[in-house]
Amino acid sequence: MDAISYERAPDAAAAIRSASQPGVVFIGGGTNLLDLMKGGVARPVKLVDITHIDGLDRVTPLPDGGLRIGALARNSDAANHAWVRERYPLLSQAFLAGASAQLRNMATVGGNLMQRTRCHYFYDTGFPQCNKRTPGSGCAALEGNNRIHAILGASAQCIATNPSDMSVALAALEAVVRVSGPRGERAIPIAEFHRLPGERPDLDTTLQPGELITAVDLPPPRFAQHAKYLKLRDRASYAFALVSVAAALDMDGDTVKTARIALGGVAHKPWRASETEQMLAGKPLSRATLQSAAALAVREAKPYRDNAFKVELAQRAIVRAVEQAAAQGGVA
Ligand code: SF4
Repeated sequence: MDAISYERAPDAAAAIRSASQPGVVFIGGGTNLLDLMKGGVARPVKLVDITHIDGLDRVTPLPDGGLRIGALARNSDAANHAWVRERYPLLSQAFLAGASAQLRNMATVGGNLMQRTRCHYFYDTGFPQCNKRTPGSGCAALEGNNRIHAILGASAQCIATNPSDMSVALAALEAVVRVSGPRGERAIPIAEFHRLPGERPDLDTTLQPGELITAVDLPPPRFAQHAKYLKLRDRASYAFALVSVAAALDMDGDTVKTARIALGGVAHKPWRASETEQMLAGKPLSRATLQSAAALAVREAKPYRDNAFKVELAQRAIVRAVEQAAAQGGVA
């Protein structure tokens, strides 16, 4: 067993200073990290406990009418916060679709952003081929069991998917991730936070070494009345999405003024269906228009041996989620 040192950071500045060395990892809820460590996938030399940093678990209103959710807010607390439920029901639904109640009680918003793929080969060190775990080793999923893998945006290096439900809703809401690091603070639009695999599938995000996620900012609410997070999976709870859809609509009667649609379970990052959104904007919502728009979302899909079903499933999920968002919406 490897030796690991532990440090409890009193504040963000101390945490960032401690993380300047290679092999140092922040730990919040630890729900994914401890699994990775037990399996020998992650081998940190030092854990910096950030759970005692004051103020990072708060949910606070922003001057522009938006909402700031601290990185240490527990998923269950964020899901059930009155402001999140009332103003961002899409996000509340996505939180509650993730994991189990026990895990949601432990997992933090920042950790949710950082959780790693559930590719079987990534977690099983008995398979030497995994470019994400060991760069340059190959990808066992390309010719292996790839039922849960990506159909969009993958590369010859990696076809893994991002497992987060929360991040799919954040993509549709165009949230901003706030980070603090050795070079100061910066704000990263959620669309730029997670990466496609390209030639570096070992990098999941655009975070720089030593940067600490401090909060997620939500823009002023526009989609509280018409929002639906639809998650399709192999069993009803504690399972990751085969396909998920975050649908948020701004409606004028039956006409869609603005549509925001993001997909989960199909790519290495939450996948915005921009062409689908553009086709729906300004039109009365009809099944025929919606089916044509949904087809655009998977126009460039590249399925593998076991996951061609996701191409059809994604289109059907978009149709159902948008229709349900239009019809009901409201508080989660
Ligand atoms: Fe590893 Fe990615 Fe291939 Fe899975 S899909 S085996 S995570 S390189």
